[in-house]
Amino acid sequence: MSAPTGDSSRIFELLGVYHRSRENIRLLLDLSSMSDFEKVGFVDAWQEEMADFFAHHGYCFACNRHLDRCECEEPIRTTGFQTA
Ligand SMILES: [Zn+2]
Repeated sequence: MSAPTGDSSRIFELLGVYHRSRENIRLLLDLSSMSDFEKVGFVDAWQEEMADFFAHHGYCFACNRHLDRCECEEPIRTTGFQTA
Protein backbone atom coordinates (compact mmCIF):
# COMPACT_ATOMS: atom_id res chain seq x y z
CA MET A 1 0.00 0.00 0.00
CA SER A 2 2.91 2.34 0.73
CA ALA A 3 4.92 4.08 -1.99
CA PRO A 4 7.78 1.95 -3.22
CA THR A 5 10.30 4.79 -3.60
CA GLY A 6 12.50 4.06 -0.60
CA ASP A 7 12.34 0.42 -1.46
CA SER A 8 13.49 0.65 -5.04
CA SER A 9 16.57 2.75 -4.30
CA ARG A 10 17.77 -0.04 -2.03
CA ILE A 11 18.15 -2.47 -4.87
CA PHE A 12 20.34 0.03 -6.74
CA GLU A 13 22.63 0.16 -3.76
CA LEU A 14 22.80 -3.60 -3.67
CA LEU A 15 23.46 -3.77 -7.40
CA GLY A 16 26.19 -1.16 -7.00
CA VAL A 17 27.88 -3.35 -4.41
CA TYR A 18 27.41 -6.33 -6.67
CA HIS A 19 28.99 -4.64 -9.70
CA ARG A 20 31.97 -3.40 -7.71
CA SER A 21 32.43 -6.82 -6.22
CA ARG A 22 32.20 -8.45 -9.63
CA GLU A 23 34.91 -6.12 -10.95
CA ASN A 24 37.15 -7.09 -8.07
CA ILE A 25 36.54 -10.76 -8.66
CA ARG A 26 37.31 -10.38 -12.33
CA LEU A 27 40.61 -8.62 -11.61
CA LEU A 28 41.46 -11.18 -9.02
CA LEU A 29 40.82 -14.05 -11.41
CA ASP A 30 42.86 -12.33 -14.10
CA LEU A 31 45.82 -12.14 -11.78
CA SER A 32 45.44 -15.53 -10.22
CA SER A 33 47.05 -18.74 -11.34
CA MET A 34 43.99 -20.80 -10.54
CA SER A 35 42.87 -23.42 -13.00
CA ASP A 36 39.61 -22.84 -14.86
CA PHE A 37 38.00 -25.46 -12.67
CA GLU A 38 39.10 -23.65 -9.53
CA LYS A 39 37.92 -20.35 -10.94
CA VAL A 40 34.44 -21.73 -11.54
CA GLY A 41 34.30 -22.93 -7.95
CA PHE A 42 35.51 -19.56 -6.78
CA VAL A 43 32.86 -17.69 -8.77
CA ASP A 44 30.19 -20.10 -7.54
CA ALA A 45 31.16 -19.40 -3.94
CA TRP A 46 31.13 -15.69 -4.61
CA GLN A 47 27.68 -15.86 -6.22
CA GLU A 48 26.42 -17.78 -3.23
CA GLU A 49 27.77 -15.02 -1.04
CA MET A 50 26.12 -12.34 -3.15
CA ALA A 51 22.82 -14.24 -3.06
CA ASP A 52 23.18 -14.31 0.72
CA PHE A 53 23.87 -10.62 0.76
CA PHE A 54 20.83 -9.84 -1.38
CA ALA A 55 18.60 -12.14 0.65
CA HIS A 56 19.86 -10.56 3.85
CA HIS A 57 18.63 -7.21 2.54
CA GLY A 58 15.33 -8.72 1.43
CA TYR A 59 15.97 -9.06 -2.28
CA CYS A 60 16.13 -11.96 -4.69
CA PHE A 61 19.51 -12.25 -6.34
CA ALA A 62 18.07 -13.89 -9.45
CA CYS A 63 15.37 -11.37 -10.40
CA ASN A 64 16.40 -8.39 -8.22
CA ARG A 65 12.90 -8.11 -6.85
CA HIS A 66 11.93 -7.76 -3.26
CA LEU A 67 11.51 -11.26 -1.87
CA ASP A 68 7.81 -10.48 -1.31
CA ARG A 69 7.41 -9.98 -5.04
CA CYS A 70 9.85 -12.62 -6.23
CA GLU A 71 8.24 -15.05 -8.62
CA CYS A 72 11.23 -17.27 -9.31
CA GLU A 73 10.17 -20.87 -9.53
CA GLU A 74 13.36 -22.00 -7.89
CA PRO A 75 14.77 -19.48 -5.49
CA ILE A 76 18.46 -19.15 -6.18
CA ARG A 77 19.09 -18.96 -2.49
CA THR A 78 18.42 -21.89 -0.25
CA THR A 79 19.49 -22.36 3.31
CA GLY A 80 22.78 -24.15 3.14
CA PHE A 81 24.60 -25.74 0.28
CA GLN A 82 23.06 -28.56 -1.60
CA THR A 83 25.33 -31.55 -1.57
CA ALA A 84 25.28 -33.52 -4.74
ZN1 LIG B 1 13.39 -13.96 -7.74
